[in-house]
Amino acid sequence: MSLPALKDFRRIVVKVGSSLLINSAAGEVKEAWLAALAEDIAALHRDGREVLVVSSGSIALGRSRLKLPRRPLKLEESQAAAAVGQIALARIWAKVLAEHDIDAGQILVTLQDTEERRRYLNARSTIAKLLEWRVVPVINENDTVATNEIRYGDNDRLAARVATMTSADLLVLLSDIDGLYTAPPAANPDARLIPVVEAVTADIEAMAGAAESELSRGGMRTKIEAAKIATSAGTHMLIASGKIAHPLRAIADGGRCTGL
Ligand code: GLU
Repeated sequence: MSLPALKDFRRIVVKVGSSLLINSAAGEVKEAWLAALAEDIAALHRDGREVLVVSSGSIALGRSRLKLPRRPLKLEESQAAAAVGQIALARIWAKVLAEHDIDAGQILVTLQDTEERRRYLNARSTIAKLLEWRVVPVINENDTVATNEIRYGDNDRLAARVATMTSADLLVLLSDIDGLYTAPPAANPDARLIPVVEAVTADIEAMAGAAESELSRGGMRTKIEAAKIATSAGTHMLIASGKIAHPLRAIADGGRCTGL
């Protein structure tokens, strides 16, 4: 199997991880990087593609702005940090997309919004209307009200559900790693990147360690879970590095990634 080129997809969900977006020491969004990503999104948009963004970062941005200690946060602390972070995140997405005359529309969803039929249909029709209006939806979990028992917690799986809910034909997970490897690449010099995964088998699942960075909740495991959700609904998925400028352009130019 080889994956169609980026330009062959019509509706694309792009998931952006916290560690790409947030400079935690400064408590700021990496604006230059985000502006370059917005340029890539605008290029797809101009070409007639429908782009949806699933952006992480509310908790990471809130906690660094508030200078909260590095220990794990209690539930009410991360909910409150998300309230501060999300408002800043939304502002900055609106700003970088406006540079290209694109309106951003914020959507905050909970697990129930994607899993309960009435709420699912409601969220889906709101997103459909935004896309019809050529708005770029910027979606995150509603972290201020999500509780530990009833939350996604990671935006990889949330993005996969958004992709299937909206019948997107491609989900791109941008993170700090450029694909799925045969072994954790940091620990194993023989680790090889797998360019195409035909099916999420038990072997593939075993290759996905659970590595997490300080900021992001998802590791490879949540990406594989996302892949199962997406591919079983007929949505292609790409795992690609967002650690470079213009990460979507890099994919279009044939850069390294894993396609599922
Ligand atoms: N919804 C979380 C946030 O915006 C991100 C979860 C994740 O890192 O995947 O902080």
